[in-house]
Amino acid sequence: MLKQMENAGLTDLHFGLDPASGLRAIIAIHSTARGPAIGGCRFIHYAREQDAVTDALRLARGMSYKAALAGLPHGGGKAVIIKPEGDFDRTALMQAFGRFVDQLGGRYITAMDSGTEVSDMDSIATTTHFVSCTHASGDPSPHTALGVFEGIQAAVRHRLHREGLAGLSVAIQGLGHVGHALAEHLHRAGAHLLVADIDPARVKRCVDELGAEPVSIDSIYGVQADIFSPCGLGATLNRDSIAQLQCAIVAGCANNQLATDEDGNRLRARGILYAPDYVINAGGLIHVALHRTGASTAERDAKIREVGATLTHLFSEADKRNMSVHHVADLHAESLLSAAGQPPASDKERHHA
Ligand code: NAD
Repeated sequence: MLKQMENAGLTDLHFGLDPASGLRAIIAIHSTARGPAIGGCRFIHYAREQDAVTDALRLARGMSYKAALAGLPHGGGKAVIIKPEGDFDRTALMQAFGRFVDQLGGRYITAMDSGTEVSDMDSIATTTHFVSCTHASGDPSPHTALGVFEGIQAAVRHRLHREGLAGLSVAIQGLGHVGHALAEHLHRAGAHLLVADIDPARVKRCVDELGAEPVSIDSIYGVQADIFSPCGLGATLNRDSIAQLQCAIVAGCANNQLATDEDGNRLRARGILYAPDYVINAGGLIHVALHRTGASTAERDAKIREVGATLTHLFSEADKRNMSVHHVADLHAESLLSAAGQPPASDKERHHA
């Protein structure tokens, strides 16, 4: 396990047990070099305990990269609560997790992730201050959508050499919390939407409210559109899907969009500009981090809008260095972390949250 930590460049790994509530949890901290580690808490079933540890380990580093490129005074961490089999008291479990977070004295601030809700964060907040995404700060999704909208405009400026989105077409894969809010921004900006979701009600809502064109989940990759926006699950960009794309830009909110590192190079080889996922989807993290500092809504929105400028810088740098944008983003994040004193990870695999 120590070797695994070393490979991922992690500083510490914590295990929390509370037999009374059934809590079995892991907190992995990648870096506190730029400030307290921040990152979501997963609450899902794991077939094996080791899978839960691996999940926390592999995702913590990505949070450091995301926070660094967003210019936040935070490092990265990730927590996992292994979902108990059978009945359990969810509130008691979350409160026990809060006590576990609290013991770390602020080295790690927890947040929502797969399987956790705002109400869980409220339960956690009864036992620690080191929690975000409570009712007081609200759902981060609309803020993530704002950042993605800014990022799409930056990509359009860079790749299509034009201002604004009027008359452009965007294919959106996934119309959940972020995807739908993004669709609203794009519609207001005059873009034509082609949309797909496994949930027909979500597609219908976009068709009825935003005049979107429905597309089946299998054909969304191959539709003719200026921008393809992955907003559903991760790892959807692979050899097969990239071969089908008929767009100039890939820019969406989903985490871990590239199935492998090579898929970022495949996009570049096809002349498709890729907005790295952890850069373009940082709006929600920016919101929760700045909410903790008491920043005003205007200050938070201004910071979220900087996602566009960060991407423009990375796009230009990638052109100059003749490299894929995702590599340039990784190098930039690593240099920010090493300037703050973080030792480099020995394994260069992608581990983004
Ligand atoms: P969500 O669960 O609300 O929405 C996901 C949507 O994708 C759902 O409507 C689902 O039906 C749909 N979907 C799933 N598989 C699909 C498929 N094969 N084809 C088409 N649609 C499919 O999630 P969300 O909060 O909107 O997040 C979306 C993505 O963005 C996730 O990868 C998430 O990790 C990432 N993300 C979210 C935030 C945030 O603030 N919510 C921040 C950063 C990253």
